[in-house]
Amino acid sequence: MYKRVLLKISGEALASIDPEGDKNLGIDQKMLEKIAQDAKVVYDQGIEVCLVVGGGNIYRGVHGMARHGMDRTTSDHMGMLATVINGMALQHAVESQGLSCRLMSAIPIPTVGESYIRRRAIRHMERGRVVLFVGGTGIPYFTTDTTAALRASEMNCDLILKATKVQGVYTKDPAYNNDAEFLPHLTYDEVLAKNLKVMDTAAIVLASENHIPIAVFSIYEENGFAKVVNGQGHFSLIS
Ligand code: UDP
Repeated sequence: MYKRVLLKISGEALASIDPEGDKNLGIDQKMLEKIAQDAKVVYDQGIEVCLVVGGGNIYRGVHGMARHGMDRTTSDHMGMLATVINGMALQHAVESQGLSCRLMSAIPIPTVGESYIRRRAIRHMERGRVVLFVGGTGIPYFTTDTTAALRASEMNCDLILKATKVQGVYTKDPAYNNDAEFLPHLTYDEVLAKNLKVMDTAAIVLASENHIPIAVFSIYEENGFAKVVNGQGHFSLIS
């Protein structure tokens, strides 16, 4: 039984794609609702919940740099601000489930949410609030996966849940390779040695050093978050 868990949601999972083509229409409201409902099921089990949200559906630092010749720091700041937009939408969805949810940003935006303070974040969860971490680490050249491992370490979380578009970790990308093998259990070292695209290296190393297991599961799985927390359903565990 876990006391406190962190769920990482990529921006891509929130992307709303035009069915006619690949035009990004912003944030998928249904997916927001699903994530919030799933989080409530876990919360109702008496588990403290915190969330890290990405921003890739809106902006990714490397794209700004590659496509527009922008300097990396500026484009990464844009990416971090994109996570704030997703976070605001997700906060609303979580509160619509009747939960109290605090948005804490690594980039201070006091009129929008609280600035991240570790002790305050812990206090919120102890008082029964869901905490939503946005703004990444607040530092360019990092990712929201690393943010997830960092915040999980700071919050003494028992588990990181990484919601992806596939059911866990595979030997190859299952979207393009029919012979991709599912890996139900693997070590941090295996992920690094085999260069498996689960989370970036910094995130895996942080989770490993702080002995926090990572569960990788599908964002589309019905009640996926609760199933993983209860050791059910389809997921890969890195420990
Ligand atoms: N980012 C950053 N520092 C961080 C976290 C994020 O600079 O600590 C920037 C980076 O440009 C990244 C963007 O924010 O591309 C969005 O985050 P990410 O790509 O991790 O989102 P996701 O892939 O989860 O949607």
